[in-house]
Amino acid sequence: MTITPFWVDGKPCTSAEHLEVRSPYDGSLAGTTCHAGPSDMEHAVASAHAARHEVAHLPAHVRAGALEHVARRLAERAEEVAALITAESGKPVRWSRAEVTRGISTFRWAAEEARRLSGELQRLDTDPAATGRMALVRRVSRGPVLAITPFNFPLNLVAHKVAPAIAAGSPVVVKPAPATPLTALLLGELLAETDLPAGAWSVLPVPNDAAGVLVDDPRLPVVSFTGSGPVGWAIRDRVPRKHVTLELGGNAAAVVCPDWTDLDGAAKRIATFATYQGGQSCIAVQRVYAHRDVYDELAERVVAAVAELGTGDPTDPGTAVGPLISEEAAQRAQGWVADAVADGARVLAGGTRDGATLAPTVLAGAPEHCAVNSDEVFAPVLTLAPVDSVGEAFDRVNDSRFGLQTGVFTHDVRLAFRASAELEVGGVIVGDVPSYRADQMPYGGLKDSGTGREGLASAIADLTEERVLVLTGL
Ligand code: NAD
Repeated sequence: MTITPFWVDGKPCTSAEHLEVRSPYDGSLAGTTCHAGPSDMEHAVASAHAARHEVAHLPAHVRAGALEHVARRLAERAEEVAALITAESGKPVRWSRAEVTRGISTFRWAAEEARRLSGELQRLDTDPAATGRMALVRRVSRGPVLAITPFNFPLNLVAHKVAPAIAAGSPVVVKPAPATPLTALLLGELLAETDLPAGAWSVLPVPNDAAGVLVDDPRLPVVSFTGSGPVGWAIRDRVPRKHVTLELGGNAAAVVCPDWTDLDGAAKRIATFATYQGGQSCIAVQRVYAHRDVYDELAERVVAAVAELGTGDPTDPGTAVGPLISEEAAQRAQGWVADAVADGARVLAGGTRDGATLAPTVLAGAPEHCAVNSDEVFAPVLTLAPVDSVGEAFDRVNDSRFGLQTGVFTHDVRLAFRASAELEVGGVIVGDVPSYRADQMPYGGLKDSGTGREGLASAIADLTEERVLVLTGL
């Protein structure tokens, strides 16, 4: 049996506690790794703590060089990495390939940010008492980072934490999702090929009930968490004195305004990004509010576009929608659809389930209080609703406990600015679905969707703090 090692202090390790990782599509074995035990966790944390000054002082060219190396090696091994993402998560390989392409760009962009990270010189002699004084304001690492990641992007969400940590000069201890640790461990292989010093990084698969030791440890003063709301907020409450960033869930909406001319294009984007990765993205389209003038035509075209999406074997490049992460997840989402139907919703497409695969499902007339609208469905389920005005659409978008991103299909630039001012979300995407994200831009949520921002420059700012050096007698 081949065992995929975990990584402590940059070195491969195994334990007697094996963890089999299986595809949610057909139960096939994606790989076997091991749980890191208490002594492994202690070793990883102690070495991150011991290395914090060395890592913070690594020259920019060393940090950038390591990041570029990972980008290069990911590109060389792209097909293998994509196949592994598909094997462990059930993600259709077309989306796994897109995830690898994105991961390469994340590491490349982080290398650029590593070279840029600097500070500023401030003159203080505006005050007569400070004549001859200046201040250097530098951004320095807040210290070692605990990075906790979810299952739905086994590469990218790890990359979104590891790459900025390296760029910022912060040691990082990664705790990947139990369902999908193998891609994070492969990333460890690539990091092990770099010149980063011992202590700069570890990747530890640990069960959820053992991870509290890492959360509590004061030698990891920064916690960067992506995952579900209840777990994230409980972590923040548990360690209120730590610097905690939370990237949590959502029920993202798209608003289709009456001036939007390309309804077919909008329908195709909505259908694709409501269902991609089985809807298991925090910014998948879950709710659509379309003006009555365009609603009927849009609904017809969305249903037609959904019918084009092939479901089935995620290793088949023709498959657009694969399984959810488990059969229980698909049963739960199907139950929410049934609840909505009992509350008056009509099924325009889908609603059926085969094991862990839920057919792309479109609902009309689902009351706002139904879980398919008010909660995070995290499945290929989309609700459509007509509205009488854009103002009504914005109110319904805002009538949510979440606030990640909203898509607004309009050609009107004044409406775009109004959307940006009035919608209670971290980002508004004009002319497209809410699911767009680029590493250059700040990304994160309001309300229950989290606190703090990622996107490389923002994540680096988050992992560092301003440090002042006042010089006198100049
Ligand atoms: P989850 O909360 O179940 O798990 C996330 C991570 O937390 C995993 O590594 C898990 O092992 C760990 N964890 C669970 N209990 C823990 C505990 N008590 N202490 C420490 N760690 C613990 O989430 P999931 O099901 O893996 O992922 C889906 C969720 O992630 C969805 O809500 C989705 O919206 C969210 N998500 C958010 C973003 C974003 O950027 N906002 C991106 C992707 C996913």
